[in-house]
Amino acid sequence: MAGKSGGPAIGIDLGTTYSCVAVWQLYRVEIIPNDQGNRITPSYVAFNETERLIGDAAKNIVAMNPTNTIFDAKRLIGRKFSDPLVQSDTKLWPFEVVGGENDKPMIVVTYKGEEKQFVAEEISSMVLTKMKEIAESFLGFKVKDAVITVPAYFNDSQRRATRDSGIISGFNVLRILVEQTAAAIAYGLDRKSAGEKTVLIFDLGGGTFDVSLLTMANSTFKVKSTAGDTHLGGEDFDNRMVNHFVQEFKRKHKKDISNNPRALRSLRTACEKAKRNLSSMVHTTIGIDCLYDGIDFDFKITRAKFEELNKNLFEDCIRHVDKCLKDAEIDKGSIHDVVVVGGSTRIPKVQQLLQDFFNGKELCKSIHPDEAVAFGAAVQAAILTGQGNHKIQDLVLCDVTPLSLGLGTRGDEITVVVPRNTAFPTKKKVETVTILDDQTSAQFPVYEGERPRRSDNILLGTFVFSGIPPAPRGTENFNVCFDIDANGILTVFAENKTSNRKNSITISDFKGMLSKTEIDRMLKEAERFKLEDEEHKKKFEERNSLENYVYGVRDTLMTTELASNLPANYAKKLEDEIKCAIEWLDEQKMAEACVFENKREELQSIWDPVITKFLA
Ligand code: ADP
Ligand code: MG
Repeated sequence: MAGKSGGPAIGIDLGTTYSCVAVWQLYRVEIIPNDQGNRITPSYVAFNETERLIGDAAKNIVAMNPTNTIFDAKRLIGRKFSDPLVQSDTKLWPFEVVGGENDKPMIVVTYKGEEKQFVAEEISSMVLTKMKEIAESFLGFKVKDAVITVPAYFNDSQRRATRDSGIISGFNVLRILVEQTAAAIAYGLDRKSAGEKTVLIFDLGGGTFDVSLLTMANSTFKVKSTAGDTHLGGEDFDNRMVNHFVQEFKRKHKKDISNNPRALRSLRTACEKAKRNLSSMVHTTIGIDCLYDGIDFDFKITRAKFEELNKNLFEDCIRHVDKCLKDAEIDKGSIHDVVVVGGSTRIPKVQQLLQDFFNGKELCKSIHPDEAVAFGAAVQAAILTGQGNHKIQDLVLCDVTPLSLGLGTRGDEITVVVPRNTAFPTKKKVETVTILDDQTSAQFPVYEGERPRRSDNILLGTFVFSGIPPAPRGTENFNVCFDIDANGILTVFAENKTSNRKNSITISDFKGMLSKTEIDRMLKEAERFKLEDEEHKKKFEERNSLENYVYGVRDTLMTTELASNLPANYAKKLEDEIKCAIEWLDEQKMAEACVFENKREELQSIWDPVITKFLA
């Protein structure tokens, strides 16, 4: 059985820096290469005067167009503009982010000469659309159904926002799956054992760091606890190196490059490359011609220096591992396997610290650090659409909530209803009563977070229950139910027992979330952009086809007997016409596809008969 659309269902790892798409085919998972032949695609979107580029094409030109090349959308998704993390990120990004309605961060770009603003969901949806196209061109089918992954540490609003991105890309989002659970599937698929095994998944990527503890027994995967930092990864290591070299450059050349986005971007790209080199070499050189004010950049860096620059960040990773074990009350000695995923786990120091923490235990590196998440997502997609064989159909996955969920009470306190690390899907109930005499309405503020004071947590939304029959305080009872679905997304219901009435809070009521109308608008825009992209492609094809035709005629004129067969002066005339046509082509930078098409048809109607007649 196939997915809803009749085509297969795919799994997408929507990464901060790279994304990966995979599909279950017959007996195994296939990682799908993109049009460049790469198995991972940069999560980059670039806008310029004429077109929108996504993936490798966008990343390749980033130094030329730094202010309009967007990356790291995952670091913004589901967050508020005033969030201190957003504030500190925007300082480092070469593109502009401003505060929009409901404190939503808006990404500002210039596209086709006009200023446009996008929310992070839209940028992510563009990346997802690219992944969809990659899958479709590989499979030869339209793809509708997808499982999309998020870090375990993503909260309710970040999960919803990711699901919204999927919807904007035209997907039927089968499931929002936790990345580490997906990696665990990749690890566990061929390692089913009789007894229970406890596995730690250490995922250090480009933007996020996650640790998860799972137990595996036969085909059941259960997440015990998760920890991590939505803001710790390869890009932070790059940042440290960039800042270091900005200082070095200042010291050596007395110039500050930090206010030049283009120079900074070139330096960042070079630093990332150097960082990768340092995973296999003990020192490396960074050379950039004319980085700033005509000065070449030429510096060395050793692995030891790189490690020193990032020492506390690497140590933070290990602290999170410790916390994760403590949360689950598991001793590190009872971990069967420490599985590493994410591109940044290739850093030798990270591996060494992790191995030391586990008293020298060998790390499990048998799953592909860049592909494991998409692999697991593809398996989950196959399970949910009834594809695949018995090997996967009996897998059972249980995820846990990353943060506690509760109700705000009087006196700035929180009543936790669903403690963190509760397995979902789940339903939890609490009872509350009226606190005033003759109270006719009650408010239910829903919070997310670990802090005891209500004002220190995140307010997801509030709903009001009115029409309560007047009665002495404490006599009207409410049942409040927190329902978390398989995607980890929450709905809260309240029921007044006496009046037997219900009220609930749904997605669109949550503050800062995209409303149905907003999603609809974005869907339409996504469609429009797709059309524009197609038009652009068509224009290039038509231009190419005209160019090929003109040069083809020129070659025929030069390499065959055509010229000598032509009547006197006609060869010269044709040559001039060809020259004119080539000049015309050079001038037509902004013309539409039909202009090229018309021109080609016009030239063909004049030249083709001449060529056929005199070439024979
Ligand atoms: P994400 O899931 O956050 O998009 P990935 O798991 O794809 O991230 O990892 C990307 C990160 O891994 C980037 O920061 C990249 O620089 C880093 N990376 C990739 N290869 C290496 C390497 N050999 N050494 C160090 N870092 C690496
Ligand atoms: Mg990742």
